[in-house]
Amino acid sequence: MENNALLDQLTTKMLYLLYYVKIDELFDILHETHSAIGHGGRNRMMAELKNKYCNITNETVMIYLKLCVQC
Ligand SMILES: [Zn+2]
Repeated sequence: MENNALLDQLTTKMLYLLYYVKIDELFDILHETHSAIGHGGRNRMMAELKNKYCNITNETVMIYLKLCVQC
């Protein structure tokens, strides 16, 4: 019983910390992050995104950066 309670807590924390981005949210999240760091490059984007999301890849960020009009 105690182990299960601990596992539940841990699972909840992990879900909270690392969020799986759905495809329809991806563009908004990339756009928000990119603007928030003042049009930072790939390395800065990845550093920010890795803190919050667990399924955003380098490739996705590179594609987004190619599409940014201001960069
Ligand atoms: Zn930009």
